[in-house]
Amino acid sequence: MKRVVVCCYGTRPEFIKMAPVVLELNKRKTVTPVLICSGQHEELLSGLDKIFDLTVQINLNVRKKIGSTTNLSLLTEGVHAGFAEVLGRIKPDAVLVQGDAASTFLAALAAFHQHIPIFYMEAGLRTHDLDQPFPEEAYRQMTTRISKILFAPTKINKHNLTNEGIASNRIYVVGNSIVDSVDYIKSQFRKIGIKKLRRQYYPWLPNDSKEKLIVVTIHRRENQGVVLDGILRALIKIRRDNPSNLFVFSVHPNPEVRLSVYDKLKNVSGFTLINPPLYQKFLVLLSCAQAVITDSGGLQEEAPSFEIPTIVVRKKTERVEGVRSGWSILAGVSEPGIIRAFNSLNKWRKPKGGNPYGDGKASMRIAKMIYEKI
Ligand code: UDP
Repeated sequence: MKRVVVCCYGTRPEFIKMAPVVLELNKRKTVTPVLICSGQHEELLSGLDKIFDLTVQINLNVRKKIGSTTNLSLLTEGVHAGFAEVLGRIKPDAVLVQGDAASTFLAALAAFHQHIPIFYMEAGLRTHDLDQPFPEEAYRQMTTRISKILFAPTKINKHNLTNEGIASNRIYVVGNSIVDSVDYIKSQFRKIGIKKLRRQYYPWLPNDSKEKLIVVTIHRRENQGVVLDGILRALIKIRRDNPSNLFVFSVHPNPEVRLSVYDKLKNVSGFTLINPPLYQKFLVLLSCAQAVITDSGGLQEEAPSFEIPTIVVRKKTERVEGVRSGWSILAGVSEPGIIRAFNSLNKWRKPKGGNPYGDGKASMRIAKMIYEKI
């Protein structure tokens, strides 16, 4: 009899990392994956399923009920109630969740209440500080407690879990499936050619190779308000001192972020502000870039696949593998720290040993394990 695995997600990074696993599960005759979206990110998810040629079976459309509010309690109520109802109706054999979003934890909690085993991808990332990132660090820790099987991307992540008392035989070190997603999209690029895609998607990008392209994304809650103002001031100073750099800023739809970024950078020379391109198109931009400045988790993991450094504008990162191997520079959020980190790129050399987050086979390992354990 076919076993049903409900794959729950709600945000862009969850889908990007889960998609290759669903593709792998689809290859197995005895497992049926069912994709359920909470709709936590509405705009940012639109069209992503088509890129991976996947069908989302159910969308809880939580934003239609709660609107674009950033109130976490309202989001929690809507997402939890939605997942609980659907899981009660489908009664799956297992639930798959990924990462640290509200949708991750609330889908897991709904499954836990109904005694449905939880398989948890990207387990064991920690800063050990509940404010960094907020609220994601708490969601990770709570999802860990109630999961049956934990897929840790790296040995460091496994170590974090065993330190918290999670039994070793419930943890599998598999790599991060984001590397698989990047490989999947890159294989599509090869068919068309990156130069052609660049002209098609970004005709306004200068052809002059002397101009360095720096991709910027900032969105975390702890980086909003005065912190974001400081980060933007640092970027303006960096550009003033490095006029041959072009900063392309993908501006997150969060209303607070948008307001600050447009207010401070709209008319500053050297900055191009864009709405977040869909994944495939965004990876074309990364292919053309010389560096990334970001507070994103996924970007820290993807940049090594494009052989470019990442300046992490956060006080702490759970992605220590990149920092230790030299792919990432943890800049902090102060103006001098960010400027210093940027200037250090002059001496940056590509680290040896490839992407420290995975080898492109994580999704195969995860699907195999689900198939065996379900
Ligand atoms: N991303 C994208 N378009 C953009 C910016 C980011 O497709 O304009 C992708 C990026 O490549 C990565 C993911 O979104 O795979 C990261 O999402 P985000 O930064 O929102 O979340 P985090 O990774 O910090 O949880």
